[in-house]
Amino acid sequence: MTSTPVRDPRIVIIGAGVAGISAAVTFQRAGFTNFVIVEKGEDVGGVWYWNRYPGLTCDVPSQIYQFSFAPKPDWRRIWATGPEIQRYHREVVERFGLEPHLRLRTEVTGAAFDGTGWDVTLSDGSNLRADFVIAATGVLHHPFTPGIPGLDTFTGSVVHTARWDDTVRTEGRRVAVVGSGSTGVQIVSALQPAAQRLVQFTRTPQWVLWAPMGLPQARAIGALLGAAPALHHRVYDGMLWASGILGDIVLRPTWRRRAVQRYARLSLRAQVRDRDLRERLTPDYEPLCKRQVVSGTYYKAIAADNAELVTEAITEITPTGIRTADGRHHDVDVIVFATGFHPHNYMRPMDLRGRDGVHIDEAWAGGPRAYRMTAIPGFPNLFTVLGPNSPTGSISLQYSSELTARYITRWLERFRDGEIDTVEVTEEATDRFAESVAQAMGPTVWNTGCNSWYFTDQKTIDLWPFDRATMTALLSEPDERDFHVTVADAAVGTGPAAH
Ligand code: NAP
Repeated sequence: MTSTPVRDPRIVIIGAGVAGISAAVTFQRAGFTNFVIVEKGEDVGGVWYWNRYPGLTCDVPSQIYQFSFAPKPDWRRIWATGPEIQRYHREVVERFGLEPHLRLRTEVTGAAFDGTGWDVTLSDGSNLRADFVIAATGVLHHPFTPGIPGLDTFTGSVVHTARWDDTVRTEGRRVAVVGSGSTGVQIVSALQPAAQRLVQFTRTPQWVLWAPMGLPQARAIGALLGAAPALHHRVYDGMLWASGILGDIVLRPTWRRRAVQRYARLSLRAQVRDRDLRERLTPDYEPLCKRQVVSGTYYKAIAADNAELVTEAITEITPTGIRTADGRHHDVDVIVFATGFHPHNYMRPMDLRGRDGVHIDEAWAGGPRAYRMTAIPGFPNLFTVLGPNSPTGSISLQYSSELTARYITRWLERFRDGEIDTVEVTEEATDRFAESVAQAMGPTVWNTGCNSWYFTDQKTIDLWPFDRATMTALLSEPDERDFHVTVADAAVGTGPAAH
């Protein structure tokens, strides 16, 4: 016997990227349609909206970099370009009728829990009332530009890859690229051919796995998968399964990890003949320790006659270029910062206040923490999607987002049915989860002695250290014992007694 719905929860989803779209469609399919998606960008897509730098490509194959509910058979390339992925997100939003729910060009500046629900403040001065807030605000969102002395004196153009400016001309000019992560490698490959000169400033070299990133997907494959949805579904499931091997490689020190590491070393040896350049490109840590970089073009680009790799530290920026610790001055017209993000900000700098007015900065004074990536003690009826400890390399982001959204749906159902008014994870359960994460980090490759953006200020690793089956198990059904719930005036559960 099904219970009669008694309430229709009002939901505010913050962010219209992978996580926000996953949440919206999942809620909609479960019958929850009373939601608003607030997005500060001019369009949906999240990182794919904000990042538009030349050469942007997803190094995850497109046949798995998609929502399970919106299979796209006809990608143009095996590893799709940024613009094609961005178009896909737009199409999904239209196909699932999310447009009327969207409030674009609107930032959530604050949200406060008042004991029964959330008051959400928007940048246009208006407010929204919500029974649930879903923070789908992303990980790599706030660009990081190092405060190098003299930067403000530079008379040429300065641009960060995550806020690319199409008016900045790089063709025929002397271009500096600072940074050698996935972004630095992609943009060096893209800008080098037409630049007069390209100088890449590398503080720490990266291992770069060779892969033919520009490979087209044959039209026949798209046609076949489009005509046979069941087959397409099996291909998607097969790729999810195969990605488990990648998970195993990063989580455990097995022969499979060693094989990939050998391949990384071979990728460098086979492509860079110049001994001096090869030495300067050789990292002093294990392959896969940092977020793995994949490219089929980078080593050729940096070895080109018009390119130079500089490994001396930058000491200052002058009106006409960059000076390094050896005293050399590098004259350049454009400086491109491929220096990454503030990856552990999550919802911040939003003025987010939970139960009893506790600010998220206070709750996270010891670093970002969430129970099973999604629930934060002190913040009832608020869930994150791709929140702290979300995977960013070994498990499909879309899979994690959809799974988390379905988990949240369980609480929406209980709210709808009048079984709960508020739900809040306990401190104890969150601590237990954090301990299990810390323990599981031991044998991971991220913990083998490199510095990476995975580390928080507290030196914990902000990633998912378990396999996909564990993630699925942990997020299939809420564990009642880990939550404190309230119903009307009564309080039920194991958490703090009175709020
Ligand atoms: P990143 O991996 O954090 O790399 C930042 C780079 O800037 C590093 O080389 C870093 O050097 C350097 N850097 C930072 N501060 C510096 C300073 N003061 N002086 C000199 N160098 C400095 O950032 P990202 O390349 O933008 O990539 C971030 C993440 O985005 C990736 O790891 C990946 O998860 C994602 N991404 C994915 C794709 C894709 O294809 N799916 C593409 C691009 C990005 P150190 O190493 O010494 O810190």
